[in-house]
Amino acid sequence: MRIPFVWILILLIPCAAFAQPRAKKEKKPIATELNTPSRRAKNVILLIGDGMGLTQISAGLYNNNNALSLEKFRSTGLQKNYASDDLITDSAAAGTAIACGVKTKVGAIGVGKDNKPAKSLMEEAEARGMATGIVVTSSLVDATPSAFVAHVPSRDQKEDIAKSYLELDIDFLVGGGRKYFSQRQSDARDLARELEEKGYVVSDYTESEIPKVTLDLKKNFAFFTAEEDPGKFQDSRSYLLPASRLGAVFLKSHNSKGFFLMVEGSQIDWGGRANDASYVVTELLEFDRVIGSLLEFAIEDGETLIIVTADHETGGLAINPGSQMNNLLTEFNTNAHTGVMVPVFAYGPGAELFSGMYDNTEINRRIRKALGWE
Ligand SMILES: [Zn+2]
Repeated sequence: MRIPFVWILILLIPCAAFAQPRAKKEKKPIATELNTPSRRAKNVILLIGDGMGLTQISAGLYNNNNALSLEKFRSTGLQKNYASDDLITDSAAAGTAIACGVKTKVGAIGVGKDNKPAKSLMEEAEARGMATGIVVTSSLVDATPSAFVAHVPSRDQKEDIAKSYLELDIDFLVGGGRKYFSQRQSDARDLARELEEKGYVVSDYTESEIPKVTLDLKKNFAFFTAEEDPGKFQDSRSYLLPASRLGAVFLKSHNSKGFFLMVEGSQIDWGGRANDASYVVTELLEFDRVIGSLLEFAIEDGETLIIVTADHETGGLAINPGSQMNNLLTEFNTNAHTGVMVPVFAYGPGAELFSGMYDNTEINRRIRKALGWE
């Protein structure tokens, strides 16, 4: 049977209209009403595993006889970590979302997408008279810690970021990057000495090591663990656990108004970038021991909210068929970050606020809610 040409046209026109690409309107994130928690948190410990997606956690778990401290958390959530200008975020934009509560451009530190400074949790805690601390296995001017301290358009402005540490009064600082404080290219300042003049006890890896330092409870403390980036856990770096534990104990005794401590397992990301599964797993398991130790602290303390999350996943890691317990067949998909959601674990007063699925900026809002700041 021959179909008249006119009928073919009539049949095709609606299909053609349907096939036209329609401009999709991006949906605004759902603003969730948050219940006020039954108990207010006095202290907050925020642990960020850089590049720690669910596969990194699974790889650590199944390389460790099916056991992680993370399993002790009862409140879990998922966060959407896209940046304002790119679905695939970086540590700067994701760190800023968590630290300052704003979505921003990839590379931006502590500023919104309009480059205007946004106040961080660390700054607000300082302003409210709380004790504050940062412990990282990267340099102190790396993107994640910087997002809590500085306000610059680019994460590459490392010497500017170092100056921001002088403008704040963070009580406890441990991380690498000494050269950005003391061997500066852009000026002749010695920021480590300036910290001392401000009343800090300043020490570094050339003089001592973390478990051996003596702390003066009346003074702030800064310890540089490397000239630039600290080494890998596999290459005998071991300060993250003692420094994090020391930080929590020091900050608790340093101030009666509570404390805010940020600890970053920085190098899970670097293992992902290097597509090196054993690097990822060793960093992850070290970070999990830190989580376990700080969770014990929080359980004993009773007033500490502890949150564990990541900024993004790195490497597109997969655990492939044929894997067995403690013998995994892993494969990386990229040496960059991916856009997959990352988990959130919470324990302590206000922990229930962190269940569900939400934007990374909500972590900021929910910490503020748990502390009774809003
Ligand atoms: Zn990162």
